[in-house]
Amino acid sequence: MDSVSAKERSRIMRNVKARGNKSTELKLIKLFKDYGLTGWRRNYLVIGKPDFVFLTSRLAIFVDGCFWHGCKDHCRIPATNKDYWVDKVNRNKKRDGIINATFRTRNWRVVRIWEHELEKGNYKKSLNKIKNIVQPIIPPSTGRLVPPVCEGM
Ligand SMILES: [Zn+2]
Repeated sequence: MDSVSAKERSRIMRNVKARGNKSTELKLIKLFKDYGLTGWRRNYLVIGKPDFVFLTSRLAIFVDGCFWHGCKDHCRIPATNKDYWVDKVNRNKKRDGIINATFRTRNWRVVRIWEHELEKGNYKKSLNKIKNIVQPIIPPSTGRLVPPVCEGM
């Protein structure tokens, strides 16, 4: 049995946001700043409403709430109205897949970050993925470190 009443449960669930979670967005903005990533836009209105986009790099970033998107470690389906919640989470996951595919067919890349990856400070993997896409590629002519040539040796 669920430990809280159905009414209380629905109040709790209303407060668990699927997207647009301010604290996770702010954490990500801080990471962008700390790592010198510029050119992002927040809540840009395109299909799927990504949390962030980097327009020039054609990258969409989604921060997925552990409950709503069915994180295998943290998604706890309430015992009350179980079928409803299972169905809801499954539909969200299916929709995520469709959104990913839509971006990819338009030559965009998608990075999905779990809410828990930001909460535990376990963000390095996601951040590296973003950095690899966003950072401009340094042309070999300027980016290579050429050792000094010593004449006459
Ligand atoms: Zn999680």
